[in-house]
Amino acid sequence: MSPELSSRLRQLPPYLFAELDEMKRKKLEEGVRVIDFGVGDPDLPTPKHIVDAMKKAVEKEENQKYPSYEGMLEFRRAVADFYARRKGVELNAEKEVIALIGSKEGIAHLPFAFVNDGDYVLVPDPGYPVYASSTILAGGKPYEVALKAENSFLPDLSSISSDVARKAKIMFLNYPNNPTTAVAEKEFIKEAIDFCMDYNIILAHDAAYSEIAFDYRPLSFLEVDGAFEVTIEFNSLSKTYNMTGWRIGFAVGNPEILAGLLKVKTNVDSGVFQAVQEAGIAALRGSDDVIDKTNSIYRIRRDILVKGLKNIGLDVDYPKATFYVWCRVPDGYDSISFARKLLDDAGVLVTPGVGFGQHGEGFVRFALTRDVEVIEEALKRMEGLSF
Ligand SMILES: *Cc1c(COP(=O)(O)O)cnc(C)c1O
Repeated sequence: MSPELSSRLRQLPPYLFAELDEMKRKKLEEGVRVIDFGVGDPDLPTPKHIVDAMKKAVEKEENQKYPSYEGMLEFRRAVADFYARRKGVELNAEKEVIALIGSKEGIAHLPFAFVNDGDYVLVPDPGYPVYASSTILAGGKPYEVALKAENSFLPDLSSISSDVARKAKIMFLNYPNNPTTAVAEKEFIKEAIDFCMDYNIILAHDAAYSEIAFDYRPLSFLEVDGAFEVTIEFNSLSKTYNMTGWRIGFAVGNPEILAGLLKVKTNVDSGVFQAVQEAGIAALRGSDDVIDKTNSIYRIRRDILVKGLKNIGLDVDYPKATFYVWCRVPDGYDSISFARKLLDDAGVLVTPGVGFGQHGEGFVRFALTRDVEVIEEALKRMEGLSF
């Protein structure tokens, strides 16, 4: 049999990095120790008290059963307390919080709850690819909204025609932003809320990096007036507590939007393993020192990498948040040719910005998921390069 993929699956954007993957494979074969800054997965371990909570929870017989769809009330209460503590946002744990199998799961299922054939979903470009791919799988049309350096990587909402806005059901935003590292202040968030209210659009905010920041406190969109009318905010333990492999996240905000997402979920999954939820409770209720410690490690790496990149003549800023560095490529290169040069001449692998959308062109992304010695080694290798 040669099954034909569905037209929706065939519509997904092509994978752009086959050539870079092949080049990396060859380099490794030649014995080059490739330094990989491509991975958006923390290299730091999950804190011990969280692992210990999991060990205990896995022994409990009651945790071997199907969990509830929406998550244990104790987990949802821990999320509410976390939001009160970190964001000053009051959440009703029963109506305004649901558990997710990682925030990616919730993001990917949201369009299935609210998008009809041909409806638009506004997605940031560059952006996390799941916003557009889940829209396509649900039968909608992603409408890319450019994030430009001259607008501090915030979308210009006034550039979206009222025709498009009227056909849009969801607008995805993500601050602190992957890949650009940009952050959003109250004024812009208010503008986004008003825009979504005017056009009856669901504001889906991806807050995966809400706790990864340096001398800066990222805002929850729910801190801003009117947000609860239109907003679902996705968040995750993945980056905050180095728990990417555990698959646990949550969504908070408008109860009707959450109920729609939950209706999809009851038809496709059966919730988060309760032992993982208990570990999540230990994380969310644990000391915030673990967050500060993680951030202080990323900060040291950020400072060394950005200073080093500036020294070799690259145009790059110190990010306020996320564990990425978004670096402009030198004149004469595009994002893929520059990534190819770094890999070929220095054995350093970065992610070309165009992989996040056409407006990511002109940039490459470094992830700060490598320790200081490795970053210093990469900089030493790059020092001799001429651009
Ligand atoms: C890492 C990441 C996520 C997904 O995290 P989960 O592990 O699925 O919770 C979502 N959005 C962005 C922008 C990310 O970088």
